[in-house]
Amino acid sequence: MEFQPVIGLEVHVQLKTNTKIFCGCSTQFGASPNSQTCPVCLGLPGALPVLNKKVVEYAIKAGLATHCNIAPRSVFARKNYFYPDLPKGYQISQYELPICEHGHLDIEVDGIGKRIGITRIHMEEDAGKLVHSDVPGLGSGSGVDLNRACTPLLEIVSEPDIRTADEAVAYLKKLHQIVVYLGICDGNMEEGSFRCDANVSVMPVGSDTFGTRTETKNVNSFRFVKQAIEYEIERQIEVIEEGGKIVQETRLFDPDSCTTRSMRGKEDAHDYRYFPDPDLVPLVISNDWVEDTRLGLPELPEAKLSRYQAELGLSLYDAEVLTASRELAEYYEEIIAAGSQAKAAANWVMGEVTRGLNDNGLAITACPVSPALLAELLALIDKGTISNKIAKTVFDEMWQSGKRPEEIVAEKGLVQVSDTGEIEKIIDEIMAANMGQVEEFRGGKEKVFGFFVGQVMRASKGKANPAVVNDLLLVKLKG
Ligand code: ADP
Ligand code: MG
Ligand code: ZN
Repeated sequence: MEFQPVIGLEVHVQLKTNTKIFCGCSTQFGASPNSQTCPVCLGLPGALPVLNKKVVEYAIKAGLATHCNIAPRSVFARKNYFYPDLPKGYQISQYELPICEHGHLDIEVDGIGKRIGITRIHMEEDAGKLVHSDVPGLGSGSGVDLNRACTPLLEIVSEPDIRTADEAVAYLKKLHQIVVYLGICDGNMEEGSFRCDANVSVMPVGSDTFGTRTETKNVNSFRFVKQAIEYEIERQIEVIEEGGKIVQETRLFDPDSCTTRSMRGKEDAHDYRYFPDPDLVPLVISNDWVEDTRLGLPELPEAKLSRYQAELGLSLYDAEVLTASRELAEYYEEIIAAGSQAKAAANWVMGEVTRGLNDNGLAITACPVSPALLAELLALIDKGTISNKIAKTVFDEMWQSGKRPEEIVAEKGLVQVSDTGEIEKIIDEIMAANMGQVEEFRGGKEKVFGFFVGQVMRASKGKANPAVVNDLLLVKLKG
C-alpha cells in the first residue's frame, strides 16, 4: 500500500519588543537568572497584567502579511496547567477568539507553486525556563529562571495542507523571512526565537480521511524539521505496515540520532480548561488601526521579487538572491537609487560584495563599501574611465581604505586609456614583435586575435579600453 503524509505546523515566533507582553520587564536575552522579573511575571497574587500595545501591532503586521482577517474583537484566555516554570499555574493565551484567522502563504517547491492555509495566529506569553545542572551561585541542582516568563509570542497555526518535508521547510523559510522582514522577530532559531511543532500523519493514497497525528515539539532548525518529519513519516508507515496503530502523542526530536521519541501520550494530554481571562478586557481593534498598520508595512519579499523582475529586468535567480534578506535588498536598492544600472549593480552585489562579506565573515549591514560609493564606482565603469577589471582592484582598495573610487583611480593612475593614438602605438609595437602571428591571422587563423588582445592589454597594464583595442586591432591586423 502507498501512503500519503499529511503535515500541519504550529510555529512560535518570539516578538522583538523591548518589554514583556503584560509587564514592563526587559526581554533582553542572556541576563542573569530572574534579574528581569516583577510581581506580574513572577505571578504574585494580586498583580495585574497590562497588555503591551506593541505586541498587538506586531500581531496585526504578521496577520496582514499572511493575508489573515484581523478580528475586530479578540479575547485572552487562561490555559491552565501546572509546571514549575509557570508560576501563575496558567498561561495567558488566546483560544476561541484569536486576533488573526483564515490566512495563507504561497510556497514553491521544485518550481511548483502551492498555497498553504493559515488557520489562526494568536498572542500568548512564554513560560520561564528550568535550568538543570550548574545553577550560578547554587552549585548543582535545578533552578527556575523566570526572565523568559511573560515574553511575547505569536503562535501561527497552519492548516494540514502540507504533504512533504520539503513543503514544510519551504513554508517555514517563507514565514521566517516574512517575520524578519517585518522587523517583529530577530529570527534567531538557535536561541529559540522561531521554533516549530510538526504535526504529522499518514493515510493510504486516495483516502480522504486523515490518519492519527503525532506532534513533534520545539524543533529549532530547518534541517531538523526536515529530518524529524521524514523520520516520523517512515516510522508511522512502518507501524501501520506491521499491523499496529498510530497513537496520538507528543514526541521529541533528537538531533544526534535524527529520530523522534514519545514524550507523552494522549492519556497524559492536558485538559487545559481554557476560559476567558477575567484580568484582561476583550481586545478591540479599530479598522483605522489595521489600515494604518497596513500602510506602514514594508515591501515584502514576494512583492520585491516580482518588482525586481518586472521593473528592474532581473532574472528570477538574481531577484531571489537579492531579496533573501531585507538588509541585502535595501543595500541593493540604495545603489539603484544612486543611479546605477540594475543588472550591473546586481552583478556587483552578488559577486564582489558577497565574496568580500563571506571572506571576512561580515553581514551586509557591516559592509565597508557603502552603496553610494559602490554606485560611484559603477559610474566610473559606465563612463569608460576604468575597465570592469580595474574596477575590481579599485573595489578591493575601497574595501581596505574606505576611500572614494575617484580618489583611488587618480592616486594610482588607473584611468582607462581610450586615446586611440596611444593604443595604436602599442598595437604597432606588438605586431612588429610578432610578425609570425600576424601572418597566421592574415592566413585565416582568426584564433590568434585573442593572443593580440591579451598582449595589448598586458602592455597597457590593463588600462587600455578593451572596446577600443578590439576595434583598432581588427583594422590593423587585416592590414
Ligand atoms: P493542538 O494545540 O492540539 O496541537 P492546534 O489546532 O493548535 O491543536 O494545532 C493542530 C495542528 O495539527 C495544526 O497545524 C493542524 O493543521 C495539524 N493537524 C490537524 N490534524 C492533522 C492530521 N491528521 N495530520 C497532520 N496534521 C494535522
Ligand atoms: Mg499543538
Ligand atoms: Zn515583569
